[in-house]
Amino acid sequence: MKDLAAELKRLQDEHLYRRRRIIDGPQGVHLNVNGQQMLSFCSNDYLGLANHPEMAKAMQDGAARWGVGSGASHLVNGHSSAHHALEEELAAFTGRPRALLFSTGYMANMGIIAALCGRGDFVFEDRLNHASLLDGGLLSQARMQRFSHGDTDALAQKLAAHADSEKLVVTDGVFSMDGDIAPLPELTAVAKQHKIWLMVDDAHGFGVLGKNGGGCVEHFALGMNDVPILVGTLGKAFGSFGAFVAGSEELIEYLIQKARPYIYTTALPPAVAEASRTSLKLLQTENWRREKLQTLIKHFRHGANELGLQLMDSETPIQPLLIGDNNKAMAISEKLLQQDILISAIRPPTVAEGTARLRVTFSAEHTEENVNRLLNTLEQVT
Ligand SMILES: *Cc1c(COP(=O)(O)O)cnc(C)c1O
Repeated sequence: MKDLAAELKRLQDEHLYRRRRIIDGPQGVHLNVNGQQMLSFCSNDYLGLANHPEMAKAMQDGAARWGVGSGASHLVNGHSSAHHALEEELAAFTGRPRALLFSTGYMANMGIIAALCGRGDFVFEDRLNHASLLDGGLLSQARMQRFSHGDTDALAQKLAAHADSEKLVVTDGVFSMDGDIAPLPELTAVAKQHKIWLMVDDAHGFGVLGKNGGGCVEHFALGMNDVPILVGTLGKAFGSFGAFVAGSEELIEYLIQKARPYIYTTALPPAVAEASRTSLKLLQTENWRREKLQTLIKHFRHGANELGLQLMDSETPIQPLLIGDNNKAMAISEKLLQQDILISAIRPPTVAEGTARLRVTFSAEHTEENVNRLLNTLEQVT
């Protein structure tokens, strides 16, 4: 039997041990953590919708109408008109014929990749893709080939080397630990040239990028022809829970038949789907949230540059500060905590060895004063 205690001790010794913080109260920029009031810069609630009163009301009204549990999977009798309406609204939002809800983004990625690829096929993934995309590749039993981050030439070379196989190219839209945007125009060109499908997981781009919050495909003005498989999650900028894939009629019908993490799981509570419908409306209408984020990001980058901090090449609300050493990243995060500022230190294996970082994220609910306080504190502790 595996020696769990020894493995846990090793993680502690190597400063890789993970612990959970207990949050008391709703998600927001001000968090009560173990009785301490903290200013948080680590949520994915980029638009500040997670605790929006209209969202809470949609969920309460939803629970009054639908109860709590969906009762079954979508293919048995768990697929309500709330789920269906959300799918139709997501299809319209993404400008694609159909959308399909999944219970989580993790499951969406596992389900889609494993349904589309199998033994003998090839899945090409950006080296920095989210764990769920890599796990989807493993689950599919296809041969996985990882290409260097954002390197379209490297991808093209790998594709040429396997000309006769079925292939899928998979990338994050916005990379979750770096904040940069995938070079989608170049990737779509390569995928089209090789007549293979491109799958983009835009968990961190939806709501944030594009004039209407349509994410990286709106940012680059790409259609279904360019990105035939488009994944989004509802737990980040949407401030709700769940995930979706948007694409052609055939893609969605195929996934309903074949994607096991879709078929063999209970449908989301309909009240959650109602909350997501409200969030989709807020996300499209409250443009000021995206504009505010851009102002905060510029303000932060300007200030961090003046302090000589090592920013990464990001125009999104994910603004990591590269530290390098695990212990140093932990020590800075700890000092920030003592000043009531919450920022998580991200270490291997989530990021590559020697690239530990403080993953600073912004929300439309932050103020310029909040950012100033962060900058002043960083000046003291780095
Ligand atoms: C968060 C995230 C997921 C997982 O989505 P969940 O709905 O939280 O399971 C998938 N892909 C990317 C890129 C993510 O950042």
